[in-house]
Amino acid sequence: MSATTTAAPERLEFKTELKQLLDLIIHSLYTKKEIFLRELISNAADAIDKARFESLTNPTLIEGNGDFAIRILPNEQAGTLTISDNGIGMSRAGIVENLGTIARSGTKQFLENLKAANVQQRPELIGQFGVGFYASFMAADRVTVLSRTAGPTSEGVRWESDGQGQFTVEPFEKETRGTDVILHVRDDAKEFLSDWRIREIVKRYSDFIDHPITLHTEEEKDGKKEPKEETLNSRQAIWLRPKSEVKPEEYSAFYKQHTRDFEDPLKTIHLAAEGTTEFRALMFLPAHRGMDWMAGPEKKSGLDLYVRRVLITHECEELSPPWMRFVKGVVDSADLPLNVSRETLQHNPVLTKIKSNLVNRILKTLDEMKTGEYETYLKFYKECGTYLKEGAATDFSNRERLADLLLFESTKTDPGKFTTLADYVGRMASEQKEIFYLIGESRELIGNSPYLEAFKDDGREVLLLTDPIDEYLVSSLHSYKEKWLKAADRGDVAKEDSEQKKAKTEQFKSLLDVLKGKIDEVKEVRLSSRLKESAAVLVADEGAMGAHMERLMQRMGREDMPASKRILELNPDHPAVIGLRQLSEKNPADPRVENFARLLFDQAVIAEGSRVKDPAAMARRINDLIAKEAAI
Ligand code: ADP
Repeated sequence: MSATTTAAPERLEFKTELKQLLDLIIHSLYTKKEIFLRELISNAADAIDKARFESLTNPTLIEGNGDFAIRILPNEQAGTLTISDNGIGMSRAGIVENLGTIARSGTKQFLENLKAANVQQRPELIGQFGVGFYASFMAADRVTVLSRTAGPTSEGVRWESDGQGQFTVEPFEKETRGTDVILHVRDDAKEFLSDWRIREIVKRYSDFIDHPITLHTEEEKDGKKEPKEETLNSRQAIWLRPKSEVKPEEYSAFYKQHTRDFEDPLKTIHLAAEGTTEFRALMFLPAHRGMDWMAGPEKKSGLDLYVRRVLITHECEELSPPWMRFVKGVVDSADLPLNVSRETLQHNPVLTKIKSNLVNRILKTLDEMKTGEYETYLKFYKECGTYLKEGAATDFSNRERLADLLLFESTKTDPGKFTTLADYVGRMASEQKEIFYLIGESRELIGNSPYLEAFKDDGREVLLLTDPIDEYLVSSLHSYKEKWLKAADRGDVAKEDSEQKKAKTEQFKSLLDVLKGKIDEVKEVRLSSRLKESAAVLVADEGAMGAHMERLMQRMGREDMPASKRILELNPDHPAVIGLRQLSEKNPADPRVENFARLLFDQAVIAEGSRVKDPAAMARRINDLIAKEAAI
């Protein structure tokens, strides 16, 4: 190695949250120390992928395309373990940016999420947070990184830290392109210097890495020490092998390495498409929702694009619509030129064809699971159902097929059991034109809602929607099989406008007019066709935002949004409403009319799940009534 230049190293601080993170990693992830090697190898492989890609379009910058390798050099005497690559390398600015802040999202929130995900118990999760490099401090008390980017004019850089809050950077004369990560191994981690341990870890976690991972040691020959090099990984591009020859454990190992997931995939889809477009794809449905969303904005795709085993784009958005981002895997095309640039991928007809093929395949697989392996489908749906809902709301061309995959609770399912839209429509009476739904926080809250009284009475089924995305889903989906989706708590839901109702409205007209003048929080007071037992209920106008959505917006900090005025509906058959009518007809100015009307309004506010504005006034009114009733 060459000597450093004379300038004093610059000392920099880690961002505060990083200090805490390092602490958490070093002290809590004790049981699975070995994953540090997987993380460093994976970083090295990424760096080589980048260099290899660069060499396709810029062959003068990166020469020697054939000898990419990740080298592991244990040195027992010095107590160091070096992971060296000839990848893309890092400049001074790059190294400070990449190794001085938590990968791109150095926020407190990130750390809190990490704690919430309980990484102590599940250290395998760490990789999903994109903080892989810092795992080195589990095995090392000091880490030195020497790096240099490609090109004759680039300058090397030396980074060093003990993981205690500071790091140094200084220029360094490095002759070759790439990065050396040198771990000064802790006393309690010396096992990682032994060749068998390194072999074992590489085989377990990094066997499918496309580049050779070589172990460099010395062996005694005729009393002399000679360097020995051995390749540790089998480097098989598993997706190119015939399906019949790949064992389930191999798929599973590849999946775990590729996604850094710790659980087996729920479903593996291995495709070899021939004909007009030729490509291979290996896709996985995960057993649980990813952690991506915790580490900043969610990725837009889970599929990597390869052209004849060369990685072209990681998480390639052109391969799958956004809702399909839960599908992880690789796609390898033989029809694209190797030097395809990332910009030209955008409207590439080959990719468009591959994408539609993949979407079809995923939809078909999910449909088959739903019919043939319902329990597995249910497990998947509980974790990833929101992606399908997002798809049904956004992917116009696949809307019907996605809608067919959705599951909902309804007034005709037991709690925790589901129906499909198709089954709902199958059960509908022939004269019913709409699919009814009610949105709220939980089944318990909406299952007994007064909004359902008329529906329960006449047997019309109502879907009970409790997922935050449901509001968005129904407002974008609009209809299913030519039946409109209609909120049970909005607009009019009467089966028909009967003569009887008209007569009643006439009867109650004066009361309704009086109340309209007294309760200015509502835009209208009318008779209800949805109530059977309750006296009053609030409904939103057909096009207005419902109470649930308003609460969601408020929780998201949109308190500035004006609440839309509701319609107060009264049940003309309820004794309380009948009584109020008589009282008002006798003397509309009687203060009790307003008092009782307010009580009806307040109970309707509670029934829709919102908060009464003046609970003290409500209590006073109730107490007055109690006092009168209870007086002997
Ligand atoms: P992640 O790999 O998940 O992004 P890391 O903390 O492991 O998170 O690495 C942070 C960044 O540092 C990487 O995204 C990469 O840009 C850079 N990096 C790490 N190791 C190397 C390497 N061997 N060669 C080039 N760049 C690297």
